[in-house]
Amino acid sequence: MTDSAQADEALVEGVRRFVEREILGKVQALESSETYPSHLIAALAEMGLFGAAVPAEYGGLAINVPTYARVMEELAYGWTALNCYLNSHFSASSIIARYGTDAQKARYLPRMAKGELRVAIALTEPAGGSDLQAIRTRATRSDDGQWHLKGNKIYITNGGSSGAVVVLTRTGEGKKGFSLFMVEKGLPGFSVGGRAKTIAHRQVDVTELIFDSVQLSDNELLGGVAGDGLQQMLDAIETGRIAMGATAVGLARSALKSALDYAAQRETFGQPIGQHQAIQGLLADMGSKTLAARALVQEAAQVKARGGRADMVAGMAKLFAGEVCAEVALNCVRIHGGSGYVSDFPAERYYREAPYFVLVEGSNEIQKTIIARRLLSGDGQAVGL
Ligand SMILES: Cc1cc2nc3c(=O)[nH]c(=O)nc-3n(C[C@H](O)[C@H](O)[C@H](O)COP(=O)(O)OP(=O)(O)OC[C@H]3O[C@@H](n4cnc5c(N)ncnc54)[C@H](O)[C@@H]3O)c2cc1C
Repeated sequence: MTDSAQADEALVEGVRRFVEREILGKVQALESSETYPSHLIAALAEMGLFGAAVPAEYGGLAINVPTYARVMEELAYGWTALNCYLNSHFSASSIIARYGTDAQKARYLPRMAKGELRVAIALTEPAGGSDLQAIRTRATRSDDGQWHLKGNKIYITNGGSSGAVVVLTRTGEGKKGFSLFMVEKGLPGFSVGGRAKTIAHRQVDVTELIFDSVQLSDNELLGGVAGDGLQQMLDAIETGRIAMGATAVGLARSALKSALDYAAQRETFGQPIGQHQAIQGLLADMGSKTLAARALVQEAAQVKARGGRADMVAGMAKLFAGEVCAEVALNCVRIHGGSGYVSDFPAERYYREAPYFVLVEGSNEIQKTIIARRLLSGDGQAVGL
């Protein structure tokens, strides 16, 4: 095994041990308390995970996409809220590492690697979530070369707790009319609006962000040139979707484990329910589909790591793993009977968390559109389809 493969294994193993020690057995209490888990965020920083996409020269781990997917799966096996603290930060740091100017990398990446500066991603607006062409936030350049950012973003994960946000904004028209700005908190005109009350992950702040003529310069325009924002973001979103798929696999694994435990100890008609053929059928489907989802996520991660366009496979990974997760979570409730519907058991938590993977990072309907378009244009051949 190479040194870097050994480092990857050690990282995944370290995350697995962290989950065993700090999350399993405590997650129900953590979830019901609805308090911000600062100690867990500090632990994620301690493991270097906020630097997962940051090159070593800026103090990061620069792990490859398959390893990142494995890390996300292990965290989600414990509690998917943890993944919500990491995923947009990973996307933001990978955008800066790949497209940022040298000055931007030096300014942001060392603090991001340590988790001192945590960064959110703001795309969605009241007028556009799936339809990013419809966004109305706009940065206008004045004669003195300053940019003025105006608009509202909604449903922004870590919108309140992050120190900065990568904002997708209009700077022109058409597909080349988008740019990304790094907007740090504390700038005049930048404020955090209302916090959404979500079905699950209540410990993660999902907020509105308001930009009221926030003054920025080319120093905050990622890459230093306007017009490439959509392409920069879509590149990062491919990894984000693979990571969402991996997170869905972790949750499905956890739901399967709970279902197996319950099926072994709950007795009806004189035997454990795991001996009833109907329950066995559910368990067999849950295990098979979870493993298939993991294989697809890892396949997509390998394609993304090789470079080039990966939207089709990233979409497949997110779509399939998200749908499997939703099905497995429902079947976990089913196997628990009435106990699946009450908060004494984790089944109801899985059921509340699972829809996240159907909706966010591009809804699954949007993934189907992307996948079909790529298949129709012959891209399936690249992965042997
Ligand atoms: C908890 C949470 C956290 C989030 N975090 C972030 C974040 O950090 N940053 C961020 O920018 N956004 C974030 N979002 C927003 C999220 O990405 C969007 O909600 C999502 O992309 C869907 O967009 P929408 O809500 O506008 O739905 P819409 O686009 O209005 O879609 C509504 C329905 O129509 C379907 N639909 C839309 N267009 C089509 C089409 N062409 N074909 C078929 N079906 C279609 C959708 O699949 C969906 O079922 C978050 C959302 C939530 C709930």
